[in-house]
Amino acid sequence: MHTRSAMILFDQPTEAGRRFTALTDTEQGVVIQRLGVLLRTVAPVFLLCDPRDLGVSERVRDPHFESPCLYVYDQYPGGIGLSEGFLRNLPAIIRGAQGVVDACPCADGCPSCIGAPDAPPAPAGAVPGPAAGAEAVVIQASMVNAKQSVRAFLSAWAAALEG
Ligand SMILES: [Zn+2]
Repeated sequence: MHTRSAMILFDQPTEAGRRFTALTDTEQGVVIQRLGVLLRTVAPVFLLCDPRDLGVSERVRDPHFESPCLYVYDQYPGGIGLSEGFLRNLPAIIRGAQGVVDACPCADGCPSCIGAPDAPPAPAGAVPGPAAGAEAVVIQASMVNAKQSVRAFLSAWAAALEG
């Protein structure tokens, strides 16, 4: 489908990019994925659209730009201006996202804010099988407090946008 998309690259020359690349690899993965969840919920409120009208795709290392990247795209052929509206309203959307995270009483993320916490790590003594590498990634990710990481990054991003 041909459509229109906004791309947000978190690469070095911007303040948000510097903050993002200062995170550990594990945190980068957690933060960008959770930002995607949050933007899917928050952006439609500002764009007065149905959540299904807007697509969000996260890349820790986009193969084209070789940078961490968020795509926010129109789900309509040709686009109906949602991605442009997203960029115009970005500072307000990021403040709105901060509001959602701050107001949520959960400790480390839930479906009402940044998405449910990751599945708990495999119990001690689990036999390492062929998926041991994947398990290690899950265990590492579960050691990051996703909500704290997202909150800290959003705060830096909002400050950078307001310059
Ligand atoms: Zn929550």
